[in-house]
Amino acid sequence: MTDLFALTDKILSSQDHDNKPFGRINHELSELDDGLSFVEAFSNSVNFSTDDGLVIVDTSSILGGQRVVDAIRHWRPEDRFNSLIYTHGHVDHVGGSGAFIASAAEDKTPKIEIYGHENVAQRFSRYDLTNGYNQVINHRQFGTNMEGSFLPNDAGAPTTTYQTYLNFQKGDLDFELNYAKGETDDHTWIWVPQYKAICAGDFFIWNFPNAGNPQKVQRFPLEWAAAMREMAAKKPEYFLPAHGLPIRGCQQITTVLNNCALVLETLVKDTLSMMNAGARKNDIIHTVKVESRLLDLPYLRPLYDEPEFVVNNIWRLYGGWYDGNPANLKPARESSLASEIASLAGGSLKLAQRAMEIAETGDFRLACHLIEYAVNASANDKMLHAIRSKIYKMRVAEESSLMSKGIFGHASRESDAKIKDQ
Ligand SMILES: [Zn+2]
Repeated sequence: MTDLFALTDKILSSQDHDNKPFGRINHELSELDDGLSFVEAFSNSVNFSTDDGLVIVDTSSILGGQRVVDAIRHWRPEDRFNSLIYTHGHVDHVGGSGAFIASAAEDKTPKIEIYGHENVAQRFSRYDLTNGYNQVINHRQFGTNMEGSFLPNDAGAPTTTYQTYLNFQKGDLDFELNYAKGETDDHTWIWVPQYKAICAGDFFIWNFPNAGNPQKVQRFPLEWAAAMREMAAKKPEYFLPAHGLPIRGCQQITTVLNNCALVLETLVKDTLSMMNAGARKNDIIHTVKVESRLLDLPYLRPLYDEPEFVVNNIWRLYGGWYDGNPANLKPARESSLASEIASLAGGSLKLAQRAMEIAETGDFRLACHLIEYAVNASANDKMLHAIRSKIYKMRVAEESSLMSKGIFGHASRESDAKIKDQ
C-alpha cells in the first residue's frame, strides 16, 4: 500500500514540482485510518467501514466503477454496501454507481441508499436535454467517443435528497452533508466528525479551481470560496478530495483551503471592480491576473482550468453575455466579416501568412484571429487549413491548461480532416 500522505507532504513542502498532474488513476486502495480507505480513481472513492456496512463517497466513472468495487470488496469482503453519497452529479462521480448497485443486489442485502443534493436530479434531466452537446464537448476536451447516452443508463438517482444540510448516522459514524455552490449547483461536502474528515468532492482538485470551464454551465466562485472557509473552520485532520491525493493535518489543510478561497475571492473582487467602473469584458480579461506566488503553488497550477476563464465566468454570472463591444451585440456572419477583411488585406492567403509570422513571434492570441478570418473567408482552401493546423499545434504546445489544449487541439484536427477530405 502506498503511503499517500507521504506523497502529499512531499509535494506540499517542496516548490520543486514538475508540470504533471498529481491524480493517479490506478484503482489502488489505501487505508488512511482504521476503517477509512481511499481508492484513487477518476473520481476517487472515499470508503467508511461502519458497524452497519460501507458508506462510499463517489463512485468513479462508468469505466472505473467495477474496479473500485473490486478494490473495496478486497478490503472489506464481509461488509455490505450500505450507502453511496454523491458529492455532485458529474458523470465521473456517479457513473460507477451501477457497479455498486449490481454488487449490492448480488449479495441480496437491503437496497443500497443513495444520498445527494436535490439538484442532482435536475442535472440528470439536463443531461437528457443536452446529451449531444455534452458528447461534443467531451470529445473536444478528452477525445472520448460520442456515441450513446452521456449519463450511463445504470447510474442510480439519489434515493434521499436534501436542500441545505442533512445529518444522518450509519452504524457508529455520523455523516453531515453540507450544500454549497461552487463548481456546480448540486455540490455536497461531507463532514465525518469521528475522523475529523472532510470529503471535498471537486471543491479541491489539486489544480486551479475549475471555476471557469469555457464549455460548461455557470460556476460560482464566491460561494465556492465561502465553502472553503467553512471547511477550514471545522479544523479537519483529513481532507479527502475527489481528484488527486488526500491531505492530512489541520495546519496544512487550512493553509490549502484558505489559499484556494483567497484566489477566488480576489478574482471576483478585481473583476467586479472593473465591471462596476464600466469596463468591457475584453479589457478585464487582459487586466485581472492572479499573483504568481499563488499560481505557482502545487495545488493552484492552471493545468486544468485557468484564471482568465474564471474571469469570463464571473462576467457571465454578474453581468450577462453582452461583452460591452456594440458590434458583438448583433454580429455579422463570421464568413461576411472574414471576406471583407481578406479583401482589404489582399486575399485570405496574405492573412494566413501574416498569421503564421505572428504565431512565430509567440503572439497566438493575435495569430489565431487572423487565421480564423483567413479560413472563414475561404473555407475549403487546403493550404489555409495546413497553416491553421500548424498554428494551433504550436499553440497547444504553449498552453498550460487541459481546456485550452483541448479546444485548440480540436481546431488543429478539424483542419487536418479538411485537408484529407479533398
Ligand atoms: Zn470531478
